[in-house]
Amino acid sequence: MPATSNRGPRRSTPHQRGTEAARHVRAAWGNKDLPISGLFEEIQNREGIAVVRRPLDVDIDGAIFHADAEQDGEASVMIINTHERGLGKQHATAAHELGHHMEDGHRDFAELIEERGVGEGFAEGFATELLMPEAGVREWMGKSVDSAAEPKHIAQLAAYFRASYEMAAIRLETLGLITKKRKEELRSHAGRRAAYEGGVEEWYDRNIAAINVFELPPSYLSAARSAYAQQLISIDRLAELEFQPVEEVRKRLKEQGLLLGEDEEGSG
Ligand SMILES: [Zn+2]
Repeated sequence: MPATSNRGPRRSTPHQRGTEAARHVRAAWGNKDLPISGLFEEIQNREGIAVVRRPLDVDIDGAIFHADAEQDGEASVMIINTHERGLGKQHATAAHELGHHMEDGHRDFAELIEERGVGEGFAEGFATELLMPEAGVREWMGKSVDSAAEPKHIAQLAAYFRASYEMAAIRLETLGLITKKRKEELRSHAGRRAAYEGGVEEWYDRNIAAINVFELPPSYLSAARSAYAQQLISIDRLAELEFQPVEEVRKRLKEQGLLLGEDEEGSG
């Protein structure tokens, strides 16, 4: 190979590679540019990653962990912090963490997501395209907005793609559909009124209702519980997987008659 051939085609940025990866994932999911109606379920069912949504008292948006393959099988768990975070934000976190998973395979992450953080280009490009695909956003804008985008349009666009108002406003700017100044103006109008004007209060309320939810996927719970029943994991590990104090787990198992012999000791 000649020494001068190292230029090759122009290298793409991490953000562009993330965008490209999201298009591949969408193609695999059979949804090119429409909204994704059940993002957490898609991640669970198609990617085999359990999605745990719960309020956390540490300041992170989300995390993804890959269990030791030898010990726990190929288990991957994504944690979405629901503390003071609505459904749109939770979707953005899930899409972002999936981006890290696609980029970095088995690396573990726990993070407060920053819009333009170092090393976040791929995950951000991925999350944005997964939730609000460029072609879909452009098509929606072409059909729904004749003149300048108003707050009600941002609320409608967010509701359509099940994203946050914030993300919708930023997306229009990055696609060059509004100016930076207009984006800032629109962002200051986030809230119930914009949703009401856009006729999408239902999404707004769903978004708010998801704050602080604690949801463990049933398949994840039953896998953890059957691992305990088969003596593959200890009661301490089960409690950890359920995010419950071990005493509560012991009490419940006892009531259900599922407590294993050796865990009876010292339970009082
Ligand atoms: Zn990140």
